[in-house]
Amino acid sequence: MQTHKTFKLGNFTLTALNDGDGAVTADKMFPTTDPTVVNDAFAAQGYDTNITVGRNVLHVQTETQSVLIDAGLPDAHLSAAMDAAGIDPAKIDVILVTHGDGDHIGGLKNFPNAQIMLPQKAWELWSTESGRIQMVAEWCIPLSRMMPSERLMQAAKGRAKYGSDVLPALANAGRVNIFEADTEVLPGFKFIEAFGHRSDHYAVQISSGDETLVHIVDAFRHPIQIAHRDWTDLYTSHGSMAAETTTRLFELVSDLNAPMFGSHFAFPGLARMTKEDGEFVWSWGI
Ligand SMILES: [Zn+2]
Repeated sequence: MQTHKTFKLGNFTLTALNDGDGAVTADKMFPTTDPTVVNDAFAAQGYDTNITVGRNVLHVQTETQSVLIDAGLPDAHLSAAMDAAGIDPAKIDVILVTHGDGDHIGGLKNFPNAQIMLPQKAWELWSTESGRIQMVAEWCIPLSRMMPSERLMQAAKGRAKYGSDVLPALANAGRVNIFEADTEVLPGFKFIEAFGHRSDHYAVQISSGDETLVHIVDAFRHPIQIAHRDWTDLYTSHGSMAAETTTRLFELVSDLNAPMFGSHFAFPGLARMTKEDGEFVWSWGI
């Protein structure tokens, strides 16, 4: 199993890192739509109904800094992939956190020397009691599709710790830096609002020289969503908001002619979106 893939973006060296993966069937991926409708649409477009759900973390080596977009899960997968790619966790300078889900922030403690970059709205949500209650409640929407209620309560309690324990500790250590969306976090990096999956969910646009990549994080999952942006995926809290975000990001990546990187596309998480005769066309790979 390949654990990392390195490629260039202008003067930056990017590495897709594999933090493990799973699989889900199409009807389970879109649980709020009639399964027959989902399966028929997949069959009509020739897509496999067994969908690999990757967990991809992106590393960017700029001219001066070692940057991660999200920190993965706390366990050993990401560490092993970084080891194989020759990336030292102790030398990560900066982590851009896209949202407060466990598969994106669980590994923060593995990077003791990194500064954490956070969008303003995410900070406001996670650093207030009312915001934390909102974030836990909206996480329960997708979670309730996946697990029985007694496990859900336990998982929800664990989630609140990000805002009540993890972030304050990082902030007290002077490691949390807050940015508005659409402003440069570092040279060549900015957060883009991408609400819907969660209310704290941001994409990241990365540019070097005249090349750009858009990390769409969890905004959408599968090319079937070109035709069915109204289908809410298994993991998403706010379906109609996610559909608007998906359209906006489709337009952005096709206008920029930029490759896109998805946290949960099959490894290595790279795809392209073009527009032909006014229709979006998806292709896998860089
Ligand atoms: Zn995710």
